[in-house]
Amino acid sequence: MHPQELFYKTLKQNNYSVTNARTLVFEALEHEEPMTMAELLAKLGGMIDRASLYRIITLFEKLTIVQRLQIGWKYKIELADDFNFHHHHITCKNCGLTLPVREDLTLEASIRTLAMEYGFTETTHQLEIHGLCPRCQNKS
Ligand SMILES: [Zn+2]
Ligand SMILES: [Zn+2]
Repeated sequence: MHPQELFYKTLKQNNYSVTNARTLVFEALEHEEPMTMAELLAKLGGMIDRASLYRIITLFEKLTIVQRLQIGWKYKIELADDFNFHHHHITCKNCGLTLPVREDLTLEASIRTLAMEYGFTETTHQLEIHGLCPRCQNKS
């Protein structure tokens, strides 16, 4: 299913209507790297006020449309795996640069195998790598 169709279906199945504001927020998150609430608000360029954005993101989190990446005391928002392709991130702990990490099927299989040792199936995971990016290494 196309991510946008799944988005509509998820709202309807949970008795939430497909509103213009909700669709705008979803579209702002599509094909993007994880964004802070401030970045997301800026991308929406005044089409949605701050309070509405927070309400929508809270709803999206409840429905697992988005997920939160905790980066130190801050967080970024991105579409959940079902609405996006599954990937990992690498984040610079100094400047906050976040990049998607290339797909590694061996790693995916290892994580699944590990979970199966505990008797878990249909597992999902998030993996965050933190470190210093090349630019920040050069500065110090
Ligand atoms: Zn950096
Ligand atoms: Zn993975």
